[in-house]
Amino acid sequence: MLIETDLTGVPVVVVGVPEEIGRVVRRFERAGAVVSVWDRPAGVGVADVAAAGAEGAGTRIAVVVGQARTWPGVDGLRRRCVVIEEASSGWEGGRALLVGAGPGGAGLMTLDALRALAEADVVLGDRLAAVGDLTTLAPRAEVIDVGKRPGHHAVPQRQIEALMIDRAARGLTVVRLKGGDPYVFGRGSEEVDALVAAGIPVTVIPGVTSAVAVPGAVGIPVTQRDVSHTFTVVSGHVPLTPEQAGSLVALRGTIVFLMGVQNLVPLSNALLAAGMDPTMPAAVVERGFTPDQRSVVAGLADLAREGARAGVAPPAVVVVGEVVRQAEVWARRRRHAKPATPASRLGPGQPARRHTASPRAVVEAR
Ligand code: SAH
Repeated sequence: MLIETDLTGVPVVVVGVPEEIGRVVRRFERAGAVVSVWDRPAGVGVADVAAAGAEGAGTRIAVVVGQARTWPGVDGLRRRCVVIEEASSGWEGGRALLVGAGPGGAGLMTLDALRALAEADVVLGDRLAAVGDLTTLAPRAEVIDVGKRPGHHAVPQRQIEALMIDRAARGLTVVRLKGGDPYVFGRGSEEVDALVAAGIPVTVIPGVTSAVAVPGAVGIPVTQRDVSHTFTVVSGHVPLTPEQAGSLVALRGTIVFLMGVQNLVPLSNALLAAGMDPTMPAAVVERGFTPDQRSVVAGLADLAREGARAGVAPPAVVVVGEVVRQAEVWARRRRHAKPATPASRLGPGQPARRHTASPRAVVEAR
């Protein structure tokens, strides 16, 4: 249960055996309550709780956990206190949540992700999970930056996993904040593997992946009726084999490379060698959803050169396919659009969609 109410200074008595109440105590403490504990069946009585209440503002909340429901004094509590009954979780260690942070900014996180941060005791974050001010989003958490830059592993993967296990085993709620979606590259499944092996309960909260959102940020839809009905997300940090390139070209859909911006030459050469049209529209979108967002658009054969000329650098998403034209189609239409009236917005007689944008090199800042 997430406690949304501010309980600062409110006395709360948690009733239950020590093995069952740890998590409940920590949760109410996080909400600001002044928690006292009654952890033996004998001696819990209305007088005790009343005394606890008298120390503070007089509000009396008793939380009765698991088997304590049957303790002799508990029935009497109901007359004097607001009694909350909680099932025992049966697991008094902590837990871990792998949380998708989206491609940038707190606005692209899910409500579940925000809730997980609000509840966190520890947050392990990195550069790609740039959600903004963690002191506000995770006010009670110890924040550990395990950030990685390409080629530099600030904290080795095994150590990140060991850190999560260590903190969770101490009873803490550990949030591993991961850029985009936890399961799209980014080693999310390895972390789940390690946590499961260590017996730590783990939850994965999905996120908005850069593979879809970053092209969208510059007006490139990854699928489009009559233009592309597949999109394939490929890790670009290793070269494509001729077989892989051949399969991608044969699909005739959209190809999205993550971690590919430093391999633009081998990636585009592989697709060209597999028979892709050298004028196929392609784009590099750098730092999506940040104030520094910009994109380079060119025919596939020119993309690496234009990208190098613009000095594109990670993080960036590379998109190859006919859908890339769409950004320019919409941009041009907007420039020439007359203010819409409801009738022209909804009615027939709209001009047929045409894809006439030429894939010349364009560098666009946000
Ligand atoms: N799990 C992440 C991807 C991790 S791999 C997700 O679902 O988005 C890291 C790669 O993601 C980067 O090299 C880059 O290709 C891409 N990426 C992530 N965030 C990005 C952003 N804001 N702008 C551009 N590319 C981004």
